[in-house]
Amino acid sequence: MKRIKIIISICLLLSGHLFAVSSQAADIKAMRSWHSPEGSRLVFDVDKPVAYKVFTLANPARVVVDIKNSRFLAKIPSPKSEFSVIRYIRTGQYDKSTYRVVIEINESVKANAFQLAPNSKYGQRLVVDLNRLKPKSNVQTAAKQEQRAKLSSAPKKTLAIPYKRKLIVAVDAGHGGEDPGALGKNGTREKDVVLAIAKKVASRINRHPQMQAVMIRKGDYYVGLGKRTRLARDYGADLFISIHADAVKRRSVKGSSVYALSDKRATSEIAKWLAAKENASDLAGGVSIADKDDDVAGVIMDLMMDNTKHESILFAKDILHEMMQVGPVLHTSIERASFAVLKSPDIPSVLIETAFISNPQEEKNLKSKKFQNRIADAIYSGINRYAQRTAFKTLANN
Ligand SMILES: [Zn+2]
Repeated sequence: MKRIKIIISICLLLSGHLFAVSSQAADIKAMRSWHSPEGSRLVFDVDKPVAYKVFTLANPARVVVDIKNSRFLAKIPSPKSEFSVIRYIRTGQYDKSTYRVVIEINESVKANAFQLAPNSKYGQRLVVDLNRLKPKSNVQTAAKQEQRAKLSSAPKKTLAIPYKRKLIVAVDAGHGGEDPGALGKNGTREKDVVLAIAKKVASRINRHPQMQAVMIRKGDYYVGLGKRTRLARDYGADLFISIHADAVKRRSVKGSSVYALSDKRATSEIAKWLAAKENASDLAGGVSIADKDDDVAGVIMDLMMDNTKHESILFAKDILHEMMQVGPVLHTSIERASFAVLKSPDIPSVLIETAFISNPQEEKNLKSKKFQNRIADAIYSGINRYAQRTAFKTLANN
């Protein structure tokens, strides 16, 4: 029988939460589970900070979450998913003052628990992450090594794709899991429509004999903003596109826009507003302190950044050019804003706001397969247009 190892770490995020616990019982109002290649996440909606304890028991291997002085009013979510590490969840009153949640697991995990303060989308939450010790990943070591070599070499003027290697495009569907992204008036969630569009873009890329897509998020789970660019690098990505469908207060605002990174001031008020909103994703998504981005690049990063910024703008222009053929655009030039996912030093990156989910007509469009296909065609054509001028040109000259 395989031995299952469990490592526990608890961060006391939101310092002082132990002191903030009042004598009145806390209500556990809802419970959700999200599963990703990294592992499983359990989220408890509570009406106030709680005192909790996480520990493990063997035979069968299980993680126990004791929540002190609480009433359990939630429905237990199904742990079934292709990515789940959970076999079974049961709950019960352990003693007069303790509610116990027992999670039977299938494989070795590192359990990490933390609390999150209320934000615009959720109230107080207790989050328990069960992360695989060996994440399910199709990141190839070869790609990693090549990426490392790329990082340590001098910045290049154009993308040079070595013969017999495909151009790797990282496709990032915004938000996911705990973070629904923007919400339409009729309940359409940004995280769902952008995943649908991202999948369509990826399948178009994969049909090209010289291109390969890698999905940064493969299902309905949250990936931290720093993690998204890190994953792209691990996959050896040559290009990065992040797909969104946002909302602004004014419902009449509509049309798509394409963003490239800028460390200067955002070009427009809407760019500023959207950047602030997108960058707040980690708060809604529930990223723990342990997930903070560790920057590895240093000096090389600064050197590469200038070239990458320049390429990002050219890449963004090619995508915008194609987007203009299929529907209204909000800005006919490339907007610049400080989006956290556009900070790869070595990968030309763009963020595409496909449409405004806050606009009633565009919300309807975003849900339709026809519109999703049209947008995916345009994004793909833009990628292809850029690749023809840069990467494939180099290839043809070889
Ligand atoms: Zn978004």
